[in-house]
Amino acid sequence: MVRILYDEKLLETLKRVYGCDLEKFLEAITRPTPRLYARVNILKTSPNQVIESIRSRGIDVFKDEGIPEAIYFPVEGPEKLNELDLKIYVDKRAAESIILGANLYTPGIIKCDRRVRKGSEVCIVAPNGDVIAIGIARMSCEEAITKQRGLFVEVTKSLYKAPHIIELQEYKEGLIYPQSLPAIITSKILDPKPGEVIIDMCAAPGGKTGHIVELTRGRAFIIAFDHSKTKLERMKMEMRRLGHDSLVEIWRADSRYLSMDFPWLVGKVDKILIDPPCTALGVRPKVIDEKKYEDVLNASNYQFQFLKEAVKIIKSRGVIVYSTCTVTIEENEEIIERAVKELDLEPEKIDIGIGTRGILGNYSDFYIRFHPHIHGTPGYFIAKLRKR
Ligand code: SAH
Repeated sequence: MVRILYDEKLLETLKRVYGCDLEKFLEAITRPTPRLYARVNILKTSPNQVIESIRSRGIDVFKDEGIPEAIYFPVEGPEKLNELDLKIYVDKRAAESIILGANLYTPGIIKCDRRVRKGSEVCIVAPNGDVIAIGIARMSCEEAITKQRGLFVEVTKSLYKAPHIIELQEYKEGLIYPQSLPAIITSKILDPKPGEVIIDMCAAPGGKTGHIVELTRGRAFIIAFDHSKTKLERMKMEMRRLGHDSLVEIWRADSRYLSMDFPWLVGKVDKILIDPPCTALGVRPKVIDEKKYEDVLNASNYQFQFLKEAVKIIKSRGVIVYSTCTVTIEENEEIIERAVKELDLEPEKIDIGIGTRGILGNYSDFYIRFHPHIHGTPGYFIAKLRKR
């Protein structure tokens, strides 16, 4: 079934990155990563303790070989699923978690067979027409549509299978945070230290901010900005769950104007993380994705504005880390090359020994890239810059 609907120009720009491996990349992003990662909250527990506690319930979990606070759950699959007579069609968002074995809740339904009763065996169909799971309905179709909340289908078999991290006791207690390996590495590359003033310009829902709190043991002055009210609410909940709520300032702002709205920050900031919105082409698994080259251009114009603003508030010799979960050169290498040319910034080598170098440009070996079909991770880009 068709899953990836990119226009001709977008495919062309992806060819600049992947050449004859483009098909391999496009195929890899339709599958989940072979490992599902989480970060251990080292302010509350240790990786060994968490692993022992999860394993005691018979769930497979392992320590990452390179990053001490990273643990992972192996993802099994793909399984062969039979098409059943009774079908329920779900939206893209629901499909992306059901494909890994999550249950279906009523808000994810697009269409369902009126014959579905409580106890019926049903198959769940993604927007691309693929059957992604089989399960037992816990209410009738009628009820699911009118109720608009609650568990609709308990999934018994799915295309892929991994533990539902957010249903684990350790998650509820704030001991772990689900996060991809490259995302975990990003905060480590920032190398935050106690006593520093640190800004996260695009912080919600707080994955990287939470990690910065942990790496500094809560002893840095961390301000997390985001412009989305709803995402900030979710972030506050996450920080409470982790026990970080008193260790980080969470402020709502448009980070493209921080120097104007918070003039007292200018020249005072040691480190800045920029993890801006992007075309998310590296995010997996994709059950369906429709994008145009124009989306890439819009994203890259937007992304550059954060760098321009970051330079205004960072201290001299301060560090900026820029990351995206996408793979286009326009949103990654070209943004950084432009920043070095037009802004008062120089690129800094990243010595972490994971991933691979950038695709092109004068400083390509200063960047880190992760490629889905090579590294088994989401597609990711990380660069480090220093104010001259
Ligand atoms: N760093 C986060 C993920 C960030 S996703 C993590 O690791 O969990 C990008 C975020 O940028 C979104 O939450 C979005 O609301 C925010 N954003 C987009 N435009 C913004 C702007 N102009 N100012 C501040 N935040 C912005």
